[in-house]
Amino acid sequence: MCGIVGIYGVEEASKYLYFGLYSLQHRGQEGAGIAVFDGKKIREYKNLGLVSEVFNEKVLQELPGEIGIGHVRYSTTGSSVLQNVQPFCVKHAGKTLALAHNGNLINAYRLRCDLEEEGHIFQTTLDSEVIVHLIVKNLKIGLVDAIAHTMQRIKGAYSVLLLYDDILVAFRDPWGFRPLALGMLNGGYVVASETCAFDLLGAEYLRDVEPGEILLINENGPKSYYPFRETPQPLSHCIFEFIYFARPDSLIFQKNVYIVRKNLGINLYKECPLEADLVMPFPDSGTYSALGYAKASGLPLEFGVIRNHYVGRTFIEPSERLRDLSVRMKLNPVKEVIRGKEVIVIDDSLVRGTTSKNRIKSIKLAGAKKIHFLISCPPLKFPCFFGIDFPKASELIASKHSVEEIRKFLDIDTLYYLSLDGLLDSVGDLRDKVCLACFTGNYPLEVDFSFRKDIIER
Ligand code: AMP
Repeated sequence: MCGIVGIYGVEEASKYLYFGLYSLQHRGQEGAGIAVFDGKKIREYKNLGLVSEVFNEKVLQELPGEIGIGHVRYSTTGSSVLQNVQPFCVKHAGKTLALAHNGNLINAYRLRCDLEEEGHIFQTTLDSEVIVHLIVKNLKIGLVDAIAHTMQRIKGAYSVLLLYDDILVAFRDPWGFRPLALGMLNGGYVVASETCAFDLLGAEYLRDVEPGEILLINENGPKSYYPFRETPQPLSHCIFEFIYFARPDSLIFQKNVYIVRKNLGINLYKECPLEADLVMPFPDSGTYSALGYAKASGLPLEFGVIRNHYVGRTFIEPSERLRDLSVRMKLNPVKEVIRGKEVIVIDDSLVRGTTSKNRIKSIKLAGAKKIHFLISCPPLKFPCFFGIDFPKASELIASKHSVEEIRKFLDIDTLYYLSLDGLLDSVGDLRDKVCLACFTGNYPLEVDFSFRKDIIER
């Protein structure tokens, strides 16, 4: 996962990009970068770390200009190197291309092998670099056609921002896996992964960049091209954006995330109405579903665990004796709320089960009498190849164990997962337009397992 933001025609673009990235920080904490066209050339700055660690006033002042793009990168194993931080910039025929990509391609490794055979040299292990090579290779037919041609070859999830000197281009895969929205700012334009970036910048949301659209913005204004008009693909918006990933104040695929999450909680109650003393979330991921469950049930909503918002990465591994410390550091139970109570705890998802086991243990130690644990999505059984960082199937607890086995492992009174129907009901009219592969194993695109390196190397 990653977050991207682009600005066209706004003074001090780098500052707006900085704040835009700040509001998209939840989409990636490994590294951040900004590339801006200064009137003559593209300047860039990127580094490992959080947006607030990478940039300061001086760095932003050295990125003057009105057109630029930015990126925040999600932390995945094995690729935590500066080279892999975006925007990815290359020089070609006197111009610079900078690219910021959110999503995963599923055929990048095969394409890369073909390109390497033709003599192309790669600098990173990014699937995004393949996109740059394919565009540059075809530039002789014109920028838009080169992008359209590239879009016909790459398969998978891509919401992309491209800076070609003074031209900003946004393009999105025809399945619409990842979000991308267009807004208006001080007479200029802003494109961002989530609309929460618009709210912070004071921009007005205009519309989504459509699946399969190429939106080019230059001195003549925005212009759209639709290379998939004759061959539209089935829409496959990532439902996990609603469940966990996106910010609740954002519009994703034109729907507000907060309201969808609250619906998940209401549907949890319809499917699993329980009696208890209180409903509590594991914050922040379970907060809005817990709100929905409490509203539907009439039970009191309490914050039985408190989140420390200042926990960043810690480089000190707690010793065995201190191993519970890392759990309590992020979420600490309020004994006075929990002690002697029968509690309904709500979280958005169970992935490996290890974090939840520790969290549950800590509320048990705080004196909870009975624990009912409700998950606002169905069991996660299949890995994601389109950009959500889900481990191999063997590491997903629900792929190897039944609900009853997981309940025993967590050592709780009740474990309930929302049904697929309850999930789909929560997204209303998007129900036929979402990717559910992590629950069903039905991937919207055939994944080429003989080229698994694509999947492993990120
Ligand atoms: P666990 O009990 O180890 O499965 O962790 C569950 C917690 O991880 C939940 O609070 C989820 O919100 C959170 N989570 C959701 N998606 C992911 C993901 N892709 N990678 C890591 N953690 C996630």
